[in-house]
Amino acid sequence: MRRSRKVKILATLGPASSDKPTILALFRAGADVFRINMSHTTHEKLRELVSIIRTIDAEEGRPIGILADLQGPKLRLGTFANKSVEISVGQAFTLDSDPTPGSTGRVYLPHPEILEALEPGHRLLIDDGKVRLRVVSTNGKSALTTVEVGTKLSDRKGVSVPDSTIRTGALTEKDRADLDAALEAKVDWIALSFVQRPEDVAEVRKIAAGRAGIMSKIEKPQAVQRLAEIIEISDALMVARGDLGVEMPLEEVPGIQKQITRACRRAGKPVIVATQMLESMITAPVPTRAEVSDVATAVYEGADAVMLSAESAAGDFPIDAVATMDKIATAVERDSNHKNIMHAQRTEPEATGADAISAAARQIAETLNLAAICCYTASGSTGLRAARERPRTPIIALSPIEATARRLSVVWGLHCVVSEDAYNLDDMVSRACDIAAHEGFAQPNDRIIITAGVPLRTPGATNMIRIAFVGANTSH
Ligand code: PGA
Ligand code: MN
Repeated sequence: MRRSRKVKILATLGPASSDKPTILALFRAGADVFRINMSHTTHEKLRELVSIIRTIDAEEGRPIGILADLQGPKLRLGTFANKSVEISVGQAFTLDSDPTPGSTGRVYLPHPEILEALEPGHRLLIDDGKVRLRVVSTNGKSALTTVEVGTKLSDRKGVSVPDSTIRTGALTEKDRADLDAALEAKVDWIALSFVQRPEDVAEVRKIAAGRAGIMSKIEKPQAVQRLAEIIEISDALMVARGDLGVEMPLEEVPGIQKQITRACRRAGKPVIVATQMLESMITAPVPTRAEVSDVATAVYEGADAVMLSAESAAGDFPIDAVATMDKIATAVERDSNHKNIMHAQRTEPEATGADAISAAARQIAETLNLAAICCYTASGSTGLRAARERPRTPIIALSPIEATARRLSVVWGLHCVVSEDAYNLDDMVSRACDIAAHEGFAQPNDRIIITAGVPLRTPGATNMIRIAFVGANTSH
């Protein structure tokens, strides 16, 4: 089964999409990677979902990626004596370390590290920014604030502190337990929420020890400031526009999306645009014009993937949402402007053998109008460099390692195939031709281009490029 688009689709699983028939339908409608949100998923459910996806993967014969998204230090208020209180602009309001239920003048903030990090002048944004408090004074255990915006506070509302750098890492106790469970369940990607600094990513990377790719969610201004370092230490990035739009002025989010997308493309790291992409499809079978335009923008920017959250996890039309994204992406990629934009934004190869070969392969494939670029990639790094070229020609990433093929399923343009190691050069060429024909990319007498490292099984040594005819007797 081959898809007719380069950009990938991530679909979040949840109450609306937890059974096998629905997940299979989501996959067939176009989902390439499934996201499991650990904020709302028990370990038992995680294992069940992974097992369903792996079964579909085997039955459909396509590597499917699984992303476990860690909740991170999502901050929440304590509770109120009467569930909620009315507040008014200009009044004083205290956040403290006393678990007694709150009143119109104070509430418990069950995060001592935040009370420590707050300084006079810092903002607290509560309930997606509906309430804004500004710190007047603090003593490390409580903070006196003034209400600047808002009329109501209620139990356990989310809190953002865009001006404060929190001293603890990005992993809470819950995250550590969820991370262990996700690694044990052998997910392909771990997403890390509220990354502030490269050290946060390093911590998770150390625990994962290569068992999963690490995707950093950019949703805090501190992370935007240190973008280059975070890209360097991460395997992928997510533009997490939900929390980003609370922590930063909303009107800056589109510019930041472009900045992150471009920086990731330059680095050759996958980048996912997420949140509210087809939000109205949670309750309606068709999206708004603005949403269609938003998905299209991400595709024109050359993002690796676009993501659905509540649309597929908890909405009334999960399958229609994936099908809609698929239709939009396919139409955008057919537009001749898309090719021009991809071409204009292409970045120069770096001075490595893998980049020189990836760039040459793209150029030869486009000049000769070849049917496919087949790249042998054990670790996945050659696959990433081939995708970085954003070629018009389809790319087939061949890997003997199942985990590599699944992890690469998030990457722009890569059709991943698990294929045993070749015996020798001839075997490698004929295998690539067979697979290109069998997977529906090449007809008899088409030509493909093959890149690989010779001698075989030497990681990081892509050094060979070869044009080959797909024989008339090749299976397809
Ligand atoms: P979330 O992350 O859905 O886990 O909050 C995405 C976002 O903030 O956009
Ligand atoms: Mn978030």
